[in-house]
This record gives sequence, C-alpha cells and structure tokens, in this order.
Amino acid sequence: MREVADPPARLPAGAALVRIRKVGVCGSDIHLFRHGRIGELLAKMPMTIGHEAMGVVEAVAGDVDGSLVGRRVAIEPTLSCGRCEYCLGGQPNLCTDYQFVGLPPHPGVTQPLLVHPARLLEPVPDAVSDEQAVLLEPLAVAVWAVDLAGLKVGQSAAVLGTGVLGGLTLMVLRQVGCNPIICTDLLANRLALAGEFGATHTIDAGKADAAAEIARITGGRGVDVTFEACGSAATMEQMVHTTRPGGRCVVIGINDDDRVSFTHGVARRKGLDIRMVRRSRLTLGRAIDLVAGGKLPVDRLVTHRFSLSGAQAAFDLVSHYGDNVIKAMISPQEAG
Ligand SMILES: [Zn+2]
Ligand SMILES: [Zn+2]
Repeated sequence: MREVADPPARLPAGAALVRIRKVGVCGSDIHLFRHGRIGELLAKMPMTIGHEAMGVVEAVAGDVDGSLVGRRVAIEPTLSCGRCEYCLGGQPNLCTDYQFVGLPPHPGVTQPLLVHPARLLEPVPDAVSDEQAVLLEPLAVAVWAVDLAGLKVGQSAAVLGTGVLGGLTLMVLRQVGCNPIICTDLLANRLALAGEFGATHTIDAGKADAAAEIARITGGRGVDVTFEACGSAATMEQMVHTTRPGGRCVVIGINDDDRVSFTHGVARRKGLDIRMVRRSRLTLGRAIDLVAGGKLPVDRLVTHRFSLSGAQAAFDLVSHYGDNVIKAMISPQEAG
C-alpha cells in the first residue's frame, strides 16, 4: 500500500474522473501480484494493479458530454488505439498499439480515483448493482468466449475449471440453450455453485478422470465444445480428449509458465478447431443487457469483501485460493 497523488485537476481531452466504488481481484492480476509479470510482460515497480472496477463519474473534460457526470459506470479496461488495422476492422481486442488498465505501464484501478477515457466508460442501469457492474468486465470475456464457440441450441459443452470465468461462461451457455453442460473443478464449493448455476453434470477432477467421465456422459462421443477455463497443464490436455471429432476447444485460461501442451495425435485425428480467447470483442453492451434483464446472478460469485486497507489481504487470499474464495472485491472508498 502506498500514497498516490490525486490526479491533476485539469483532465486531459476526452477524459473523465471516476471515483472507484468497487474493484474485483482477477486471476490475471494475481499473475502480476505473485510473479511481477504476466507472460512476457514485466511490471516496473511500484505500480497499481487491478482492471475490474466500477465507479461514479465525478468530472469530465471540457470536450466530453457533461451528462456523464454523476452516472454509475462500468470501465472498459482495454485502451485500444482506434487507428490500427484491427481497431478499424472491428477487432479492438487484437489492437497492436493498446494499453490495458493495470498492466505495465498503465496504472490500475485499485485506488480511489481514476482518470479514464470517457468513451471507455459504459453507464449501467439501476437494475445492475455495484458488484454486478464490476463483473461485467469478465462477463464480457465469457460472452466473447461463447461467441467464438459458435454453439447452437441443444449442443453440448464442457467447462473445465469453474472459477469466475468458468462460472460466467456456464451462465452464458445456459442462455444459449446448451445441453448437457458439464463442469469440472477441483474445489467442492465451486462445483456446488456450478450446480446452482445450471450445470447438468459436475465432476470433481481430483477424484474422477474428467475426460473418462465426460466420455461416459456423452455416450463416448465427446462434447461439441470444450471451454478450457483454468490454464493448467491438466485441463489443456483434457480438452482434446473431451471434445468430439470436428469440435471446438475454446481456451480462456492463462498458463502460469506461459507454455501449454496437448497430445498432438488426438487433436489432429479429431481435426479439432482450437480457438484462443483474447479478452472481449465489443461484448460489454450485451453483458450489461443480460445482467440488467435479471437472467444472470453474476454477483453470486462474490465470496469476500474488503476495504481499501484490506487490499493486500484480498490479493493474498485470491493468490492462495484461501477460504474457498471465488471473487474478492475491494471498496476503495472504505478506509477501515
Ligand atoms: Zn479480469
Ligand atoms: Zn488499434
């Protein structure tokens, strides 16, 4: 924890000043917290981490629509350039000249005040609570992952790893109308929650052979799409076994060692289509509508709550998977 100066009173063009009300601790923050790096990206200390947040707009620059002031907003953390081939082609998640909130060198959201481009603030309706608003960012990723899967109603899916992104993916799959939806995890509380969220089957991958169980449930065929939402070596291998020939694997998880492997012969003989999820692509609006419609109880994933002075404890807890944590939230306006 350290003191940071308030942002300068004069906001840069296009910017808004947001008083941060809630911050979510994300698994990708933990990579930085624990290793000082994520993949090849090294953090330069000190830096403020965190990219999942919501807040209230306190002021805007002179060139920004003043009606934004006082609004509760979700924060889109990808600062895409808006000019490159990918931004112009409607793929801002693949921007080659981006910054990301909470990734070196751009400061993160775990602080009371944030200056952010107004165009990347999405007002949220009253029907969306503060905690739900924080979960819109990972939900947008889950919606994009399901977009990439190209699933049709009645097709089958497996979700390997039922943490936050796996749990949110499961909720979106329910909306698509997939059946069965088979979820795996090593933690009993996560599997219980997956059952409540509508998984048709849950498998404790520490006790049973997940791939063999999924084969059994699907009559030996395998599922149409497997979502890898863990990043571990075990689930990266499982996904090629759990997916039917010609099916798809959608990889959401991030591997700690930045290196993954699977049995080539299995993936090749099945002609699998393996897709990598890169954040979200213009899905935040749909995420807001889904939550506002009351269909997705995303805030059920919030298990722990901290004040700003508890930020260290929040990151430690998530880092060690302590106390059955799924999503921990920090309230930067609460000092206590
Ligand atoms: Zn995140
Ligand atoms: Zn770009």
